[in-house]
Amino acid sequence: MNDSQHVNDELFERAKHAIPGGVNSPVRAYGSVGGTPRFLVRAEGAHVYDADGTDYVDLVASWGPAILGHAEPSVVKAVQDAAALGLSFGASTPSETVLAELVERRVSAVGPNGTDVRPIERLRLVSTGTEATMSAIRLARGFTGRDLLIKFAGHYHGHSDGLLAAAGSGVATMALPGSAGVPAPVAAQTLVLPYNDIEAVSAAFAEHGDRIAGIIVEAAAANMGVLAPQPGYNAALATIAHEHGALLILDEVLTGFRVSSGGYWKIEALDGPAYQPDLFTFGKVIGGGMPVAALGGRADVMEYLAPTGPVYQAGTLSGNPVAMAAGIATLQGATPAVYAHLDSTADVLAAEVSQAFEREGVAHSVQRAGNLFSFAFTDATPVDYADVQAQDAWRYPPFFHAMLDAGVALPPSVFEAWFVTAAHDDAAVNRIIDALPAAARAAASA
Ligand code: PMP
Repeated sequence: MNDSQHVNDELFERAKHAIPGGVNSPVRAYGSVGGTPRFLVRAEGAHVYDADGTDYVDLVASWGPAILGHAEPSVVKAVQDAAALGLSFGASTPSETVLAELVERRVSAVGPNGTDVRPIERLRLVSTGTEATMSAIRLARGFTGRDLLIKFAGHYHGHSDGLLAAAGSGVATMALPGSAGVPAPVAAQTLVLPYNDIEAVSAAFAEHGDRIAGIIVEAAAANMGVLAPQPGYNAALATIAHEHGALLILDEVLTGFRVSSGGYWKIEALDGPAYQPDLFTFGKVIGGGMPVAALGGRADVMEYLAPTGPVYQAGTLSGNPVAMAAGIATLQGATPAVYAHLDSTADVLAAEVSQAFEREGVAHSVQRAGNLFSFAFTDATPVDYADVQAQDAWRYPPFFHAMLDAGVALPPSVFEAWFVTAAHDDAAVNRIIDALPAAARAAASA
């Protein structure tokens, strides 16, 4: 392993003079773990390579999209073939419908009572998760004619104005209450409630019911570390919303096509009472590393979008043909065998990390939602953002750096999920396992 840092250091210094904070997305700056961010120049399979020539086993996977592993040959080929035919047309293409149909088919389930549930009847493709959630909220407001929105503390839905209050991801990492630059009247349209607390939702509807357009919830929270909903929670949100004429927006930007072939909703629909979100949002895996995201759901709601309806939404690069090719190839490659591999790899790694912490007496909670996992440094089992914030977060930076020194790239924040890919083979997993004893010692002595 080459741990001379000078190339990354030089690149970061130069970047800081050209780009705010030297990064184009805040968590990349290593603000909460310290040190110089690695500047990556190549990625293949389970590995990323920095500008110093150092190779890391990667547990970030581009924050989710690289589900098949980096630069998976079938995806790269599909992108190359599409690129050769033109990068962007600004017109309809056959591949947009192919991807939409794939999504609609995959997010369907036969519920426990034998009924066929197909909650996505129409899908609108956009370029980022932020656009997907922003547009879904506008649509919910336009459809219901109401303004208020419920979101949950610690949940991240992208960086649009109304969604940054008590948000997860980088907002949690930087311990910010929200963002400057959001007008108070805009922030006041978002009611922030504690997660996993149905009473709080009932109380909000009792007070403001006829003014609430919808609830947006991460299908399983994974931007304050992983924090799964309690059984029946998402279904209860659907029930309460529908009793009051409001919509449920299930944000599967992170969980969609990652935790199962049809996302977290599908895991729940196969296991428990079938419930029907009105809108879903997707991103990450549906682009396989290219900028693709989407909102989809009930036909009557979705047809409220322009050009059929009055809610405006558009995009020069929406449904971009090269991005569509990446998304289609990625979903086609994400077979049941891939999900079985992700699940078993997550099981192994979660258990190994937990044992390493146990051996060193580091209090921790293993946080799981399907094959997503993370660790909270606490004896308790967190159920909401306040619990997660109360952990011994200072144990993470030394743990992170010990892993990095041993050639394992973890998310540079304790408030993020760890991502495995189809390319995490025994050699990759063993490198992670070998790095754990020293890293757990570093966490213990923090
Ligand atoms: N929703 C969720 C649940 C997310 O995890 C993210 C990004 N991590 C977003 C929305 C925003 O997506 P993007 O970064 O593509 O704008």
